[in-house]
This record gives sequence, C-alpha cells and structure tokens, in this order.
Amino acid sequence: MLDNHRYFETLHPGYGQYFQIDTILFEQKTDQWHLIIFENETFGRVMALDGIIQTTERDEFIYHEMLTHVPLFTHGHAKNVLIIGGGDGGMLREVTKHHQLESITMVEIDQAVVDMCKTYLPDHSAGAYDDPRVQLVIDDGARFVATTDQKFDVIISDCTDPVGPGEVLFSSDFYAGCQRCLNPGGIMVAQNGVAFMQPNEVQTTHQRLGHYFQDCTFYSAAIPTYVGGIMTFAWASQDPHIKEIEFSRLAERFARADLTTRYYTPAIHQASFALPQYLLDELSQA
Ligand code: SAM
Repeated sequence: MLDNHRYFETLHPGYGQYFQIDTILFEQKTDQWHLIIFENETFGRVMALDGIIQTTERDEFIYHEMLTHVPLFTHGHAKNVLIIGGGDGGMLREVTKHHQLESITMVEIDQAVVDMCKTYLPDHSAGAYDDPRVQLVIDDGARFVATTDQKFDVIISDCTDPVGPGEVLFSSDFYAGCQRCLNPGGIMVAQNGVAFMQPNEVQTTHQRLGHYFQDCTFYSAAIPTYVGGIMTFAWASQDPHIKEIEFSRLAERFARADLTTRYYTPAIHQASFALPQYLLDELSQA
C-alpha cells in the first residue's frame, strides 16, 4: 500500500514494516496484482507484489545463498537442478556458481517478472540467464513437476507466499510432483515463510511433505526484510542421514567449489538446522 512516498507491507494483520520510496522505477497495476520496484536508501532496489516484499538488493544474498548452497553442498554430486519460481534471478545466479552442474531448469509462471527484473534488478541474475546450462520454462511449477519426464537431483522452490499463483506450490499435489521427478538421493527445498508470524505454514508443509518424503524438516536464516524473525526453509529427502553430513566433508566440498558467498559458510549450514523450541513444539503437534 502506498502512502505519500512510503510502501507499507500488508502481509501480517495489524503488524508490518514500511519502506520510504525514493524513486519508483517500475509499477504495474492490473486487475490481478500490484507490482512495484522502487529505490530505498537502506535496502537499495526493492520489489514488492500485492503488499508483500519479494526481494531487495541489500539482503537477497542471504535467502538465495541458503536455499542454493545448503542442498547442493549436502548432495555433493548433483548434476541436474530445478528451480521453481525465482523470477528475480537471484537463485539462478547462485546455482550457476556450481560448475559441476550439467543442467539448470527454471520454471517461472510469469515472463514479465523475469524481463522486469533483468531490467531493474540486474545484479540479481548478474548474467546467469546466459549460462548455456540454463533452460527457462514459462509454466506453472506445479503443472511442470506433475508432467515432466525430466529427473532432477535438487529442486528449489523459490515462490511467492501461498496466495494467488504461489498457493499451488504449497499443495500436496506439488509435493507429490517433486517426489516423482527427484532422482534417488535427491533433495527438495522450499521457502516456507517466517515461522513466528506464519506458524500454520510450517505445520501444513510438514504434514503435507511428510506424506511423500521420509525426511521432512526445516532449516533457517534471518533475512532482515522478511520481518518477524527467522525465515524457515523446508527440507525434504528420502534419506534422513544425508543432512547429517560431517563438517569436514562439507568444508571440503565448499573449498573445492571455489565460489564466493557473503552469508553461507559450512558452519552456518550446519547450525541452520538447529530449530528454536517453539518451532519444534509446533512441528510435534503437526
Ligand atoms: N524471494 C521471494 C519470497 O521469498 O517471497 C520470492 C521470489 S520470486 C519473486 C517468486 C516468483 O515465484 C515470482 O517470480 C512468481 O512469478 C513466481 N511464481 C509464483 N507462483 C508460481 C507458480 N505457480 N509457478 C511458477 N512460478 C510461480
């Protein structure tokens, strides 16, 4: 919601944050949605969709590094990766840093988001779309995983919140689709909201994912513009032990990958699976 050069986030009832709008770079109001990209002196360029902050130049690296490097360094020998959503291009930038990958498929429902972010948030994708391993598919992610004959080693769901087109990416059908197109030893991760503010999202995901995967848990990171505490990332695989990778192996894989990060470290990776008691209690009731 805009009010004399301020953008108010309206995700949570009765609570929120606002950003001073220094310059509006892009704005699209249709009967479905309100999309805006603006400059803010603290967070740089900010993209918001229907009153929900999607991403900012200043802190996007935390989110994209944790949703990419935690599953890929755990897996250790992934060749094919699927990104669902990710229209701002930040996830693609981080995934393409993994030189051992053979293919990176990104399924984004809205070409306009890709085009607009290439223009107004160029540092998010930073040329990643030009990587010859990348295939961009414009489609609904849930439909894609239900129908593709491709198989993947890691699936990353980088979607909007479970409202509108993003809602289907929190459904059992979507998780069933992910199960069907993961290779043996595969890992699926997904953004799952700020647990303190959206506790039912974590419980619902835990219940639904648990039907399709032997191991379903969460890991977390604090991302300043996803207000209300730690953001949880859903983790799903058929082998509960793979996430218990020894620190020395994790550190060795990270060193061998020779890629630069600003948030991710092997120690943060391991620590991110330690969940606060309130979250453990909610999961035990799920
Ligand atoms: N980092 C943000 C967050 O955590 O909320 C989300 C990043 S990105 C902007 C979210 C993307 O998901 C958008 O580009 C949106 O178009 C896409 N998306 C939403 N629903 C989708 C669906 N059903 N299939 C594929 N992409 C979808």
